[in-house]
Amino acid sequence: MSQRILIIGGGMAGTSLAWWLAESGAGRHTVLLEREGLLGQHATGQNAAILRSAVAPWATRVLAHETGRFLRQPPAGFTDAPLLNERGLVLAEGAEGDPLPAWLDDHLEWNMVEPIKTSRQRQLAPHFHPEGERCWWFPGAGEIEVARLLERFASGARRAGVRLETGREVRDWITSGGPDPRLTGVRLADGEELEADVVVIAAGAWAPSLAARLSIATPMRVTRRHLMVSAPARDVCPEWPVVWDDRAGLYARPESSGLLVSACDISEVQPEPLKADPDVRHLLAEKTLRLLPSCGDLGMAHFWPGLRTLTDDDAPWLGADAQVEGLFWLAGFGGHGMSACAAAGRMAAAMLCGDSPSEELQAALDPGRQTAVAVPL
Ligand SMILES: Cc1cc2nc3c(=O)[nH]c(=O)nc-3n(C[C@H](O)[C@H](O)[C@H](O)COP(=O)(O)OP(=O)(O)OC[C@H]3O[C@@H](n4cnc5c(N)ncnc54)[C@H](O)[C@@H]3O)c2cc1C
Repeated sequence: MSQRILIIGGGMAGTSLAWWLAESGAGRHTVLLEREGLLGQHATGQNAAILRSAVAPWATRVLAHETGRFLRQPPAGFTDAPLLNERGLVLAEGAEGDPLPAWLDDHLEWNMVEPIKTSRQRQLAPHFHPEGERCWWFPGAGEIEVARLLERFASGARRAGVRLETGREVRDWITSGGPDPRLTGVRLADGEELEADVVVIAAGAWAPSLAARLSIATPMRVTRRHLMVSAPARDVCPEWPVVWDDRAGLYARPESSGLLVSACDISEVQPEPLKADPDVRHLLAEKTLRLLPSCGDLGMAHFWPGLRTLTDDDAPWLGADAQVEGLFWLAGFGGHGMSACAAAGRMAAAMLCGDSPSEELQAALDPGRQTAVAVPL
């Protein structure tokens, strides 16, 4: 394979793809361009690092399940330190009598979930007083070592010949012109032009605005969510599982001798400038007191916003663009990028190298798909 591939974006999506391309023998034909001075400075460096496969979109569940396998049994080059802390996840959702969640059947088939009663829930997570009436235990879920995973993808890709170039911002596209323009490369902020046969948009929250410059309207919403880490506290047990209440909108896990908590806030924003909303602190304090009462007065040590880029059906866009030849999508990971990126990178690399992954999965992730609107977590 000798086509020249340019990847725009050095978050987990782009860096995972770079590694998988290198694994497929395409390293020397691949260049990754990241506008920041370091990889992983945006959503990849701002998230809660939770591996959760129990989500509504089927394709995301499949990607997250495969990513879980990758993290538990990583290939050579990733094995010197763990990539996943399998602390488990206690998930509360719904009410008795509600339809069962969409993820249940495949998770039962994969042997990844167990329904639990309140007594067992309290045993596993005594600090958690959920509003969701049904509780589930996912022993294989947990916390991803994001920085380590990103570093291993990057160093493996670099060793196999991928050029990972930081401080390189793509400003514009170069096309062949004519009635059916073909993408032939990109123009950087300093005016340099780079040629390519395929350009991959893995630019996270900047994917829609980059695509707009090719007159592609992208039904993606750039949204902000906040996280906080409490002050260190003896009351927080470092072994606690992740707890998540889909009904109330809260999740939490131990972090740095304290607790990391999200109130699952969502607001549509421009990616820049990204500012924290102080009102979310009150929401966080209120929900923590209500759902994690023993942790209600821990105090906030850190509080920050991050960007989640949501598609209509809450599954990423992965595949060739229907309108512009030479453009390939790997974006719109919403709140699932850490859980899905290792498998998404593998699938994208396979497609770029001419292999055909499952047709059903391709259709479910195709950027041109018709989507049913889903409510994101
Ligand atoms: C608060 C919060 C909590 C989350 N928690 C979880 C979780 O627990 N589990 C989970 O699975 N997911 C979680 N996510 C989602 C996850 O973080 C994202 O889905 C994932 O990081 C997306 O990765 P990405 O590589 O697509 O985007 P990014 O990490 O944003 O990377 C895109 C990169 O593209 C670069 N770029 C943009 N424009 C250009 C350009 N013109 N030229 C060159 N480079 C460019 C950017 O600088 C950036 O580095 C969370 C997100 C947030 C915000």
